[in-house]
Amino acid sequence: MSEQQPLTKYVFRSTPRYIQAAGLIDHAAEPLVALKVKHCAILCTPRSQQGEAKRLIAVLEQAGISTCVSTFGGECSFREIDARTAELRQQAPVDALIALGGGKTLDAGKCIADRLEVPVVIMPTLASNDAPCSALSVIYTPEGATETYEVFAQNPALVMVDTEIVAQAPPRFLVAGMGDAMSTWYEARACHTNPAGMTPYGDRPTLAGVALSKTCADILYDYAVAALDDVRAGRVTPAVDHVVEANTLLSGAGFECTGVAGAHALAQALTLLPEVDHNYLHGEMVAIGVLTQLMLEADRAEAERCARLFATVGLPVNFSQLGMSLEDEVAVGTVIEATLAFPFIGNMPFEVTADNLRQAFRDVERLGAELINEMGDQPYRSLRS
Ligand SMILES: [Zn+2]
Repeated sequence: MSEQQPLTKYVFRSTPRYIQAAGLIDHAAEPLVALKVKHCAILCTPRSQQGEAKRLIAVLEQAGISTCVSTFGGECSFREIDARTAELRQQAPVDALIALGGGKTLDAGKCIADRLEVPVVIMPTLASNDAPCSALSVIYTPEGATETYEVFAQNPALVMVDTEIVAQAPPRFLVAGMGDAMSTWYEARACHTNPAGMTPYGDRPTLAGVALSKTCADILYDYAVAALDDVRAGRVTPAVDHVVEANTLLSGAGFECTGVAGAHALAQALTLLPEVDHNYLHGEMVAIGVLTQLMLEADRAEAERCARLFATVGLPVNFSQLGMSLEDEVAVGTVIEATLAFPFIGNMPFEVTADNLRQAFRDVERLGAELINEMGDQPYRSLRS
């Protein structure tokens, strides 16, 4: 009898080792030697081959780890994954793959390492998203719209974040990461509250995951503004360390061990609008997703608290700031349809419909307009100039 009942499991999963330090790239060989890596592939963009990848290769070769480079074409699509996998299969077998770069490079690296059946080591150069620590990759069409996601048996074997490199990136990336990270708590809360709420792996949320997600939001409310000031001044301070950890580790382990809901449903739906997708980062779309989810939940106080922080750091606070007009019926219809089709929209503890979504969009638009009126949009504009 019990064989026929799917087992309700509470599962905690995370990367076994997360290391974060300023100047870590120059010490990257030690943890790899500990993993007994002798010959590894490095997946990175051409730009990185003149910078971080060059530095990394020098450090590894000095430690007796030989390397080969695979150049990432820019989109985490099946076409790209297959091409890079085929290319690496032509070469001497590697015992690990290092993915070095932004979210799409990291997600592609996880897929390629899985096909090569070697552990993946993740080295983010941006703190703009929660991809680094997770055991899943989002796959896009070659044109950049969200297509599907792929799940792996294991989390990345090692995640190494050099805070100096992350802090040197344009501040808009760190800020986008705050938007992505902020969703973790509100989506965890939805998944935890809903008795049918599930993680992306079909498990029930663990309390550990809920606690990480809550800490993630607390850190952002306490340190996001200071961290942004500090990266602008070129300083790696405890505030920067805290926000980088929130954006990367707390957000990644948090969502994996609790689940995603309305905020990510809307964010992935927005990638279907080329004018939004081409001009905005994942975390910026998630920011509008967070506000929409909070309005759906009728948690107006929290929506306002969150939108105030977003407006202060320069995240978009309404659809207009994301380049989408709510007057555009075709765009609104496309986004609503895709939001309702998102595999985890059922994690919301009540039914989401076209009607309540439409109302939530209007509520977000109005709240955003009020805040822009009150606070101005200088932080938003300064990140984009
Ligand atoms: Zn995300």
